[in-house]
Amino acid sequence: MELTRVISGLLFPPVCPFCDKAVKIEEEGKLCKKCVGRIRPFSGPACLKCGKMLSDDEKAYCGNCRKNSFHFRRGYITFLYEDEVRDMIVKFKYRHRKDMALYFARESIEKFDRVLKNGAYDAVVPIPIHKKRMIKRGYNQAAEFGKEIAAFLGIPCLSSLLKRRKQTAAQKELGAAGRLINLMDAFETDESELDRTLNAGIKKLLLVDDIFTTGSTLECAGIKLIECGFDRPDCLCISGTRGTC
Ligand SMILES: [Zn+2]
Ligand SMILES: [Zn+2]
Repeated sequence: MELTRVISGLLFPPVCPFCDKAVKIEEEGKLCKKCVGRIRPFSGPACLKCGKMLSDDEKAYCGNCRKNSFHFRRGYITFLYEDEVRDMIVKFKYRHRKDMALYFARESIEKFDRVLKNGAYDAVVPIPIHKKRMIKRGYNQAAEFGKEIAAFLGIPCLSSLLKRRKQTAAQKELGAAGRLINLMDAFETDESELDRTLNAGIKKLLLVDDIFTTGSTLECAGIKLIECGFDRPDCLCISGTRGTC
């Protein structure tokens, strides 16, 4: 075990990501014995494009992906964003439980073991949050998840490549088209980080985030990265809503 993990385990004893009961250091990032089996990644058919869970295994794509096509190559989603998982994500995001990133990453790696390793990604890129929110919250949950995923895959996590711009108008005041334009403008890249990354020959990216609902955030981040010269990325999300029929 990594020394830093041992030290942090002594300072902040690990707890079960679901019930918060203390667990042994070597069980960090795992559910306790009581909770094992209560929370599981979804199984069954998933949309071959965005990765959302499908209720009908006759179909290959969800209703949205049959009509529109995202610019990213493929999406992978680990958990269904419902019930207990939704509560866990809230805790992970807003209640200083960044330790839960290890649990979500471990489950994601296990569910998508073959794809993620075959994907042969050069780097992980988390969806950023705005600087103000970062100062308030103290961490970006997607970046914490991304760091753990990158560690499992043995590749770098580029947490400062994408930056969130200040939103010019509140999303709710805009129509659908305006909303998309607003969002298209939401990301910029850190120029020196971009140069360094492209010069290092990094092309294949795995974009990561915590929740996949409409997919528009990942879509806009993906378009931005493609414009910068990267290959079409794949996306991995901790959780996602059900695919429409
Ligand atoms: Zn537990
Ligand atoms: Zn889909």
